[in-house]
Amino acid sequence: MSTSETAEAPTLSTECTVGKMPGYGYVHDMCRQIEDVPMPHGRGILLLARCRCTCHTQAADA
Ligand SMILES: [Zn+2]
Ligand SMILES: [Zn+2]
Repeated sequence: MSTSETAEAPTLSTECTVGKMPGYGYVHDMCRQIEDVPMPHGRGILLLARCRCTCHTQAADA
């Protein structure tokens, strides 16, 4: 499966990608990918990158 369908799109979770479609806004609430998840023994390597959806960035502390 390719992830390069839109070069300018930020990294979004599956939930938030779906949530951007009309009628699926509620799916944003199902996203739990709000923090970077590091590899258990990886030195700074991320297992999962934080979802960059604007529905989360608004909650970031200033
Ligand atoms: Zn979202
Ligand atoms: Zn999200």
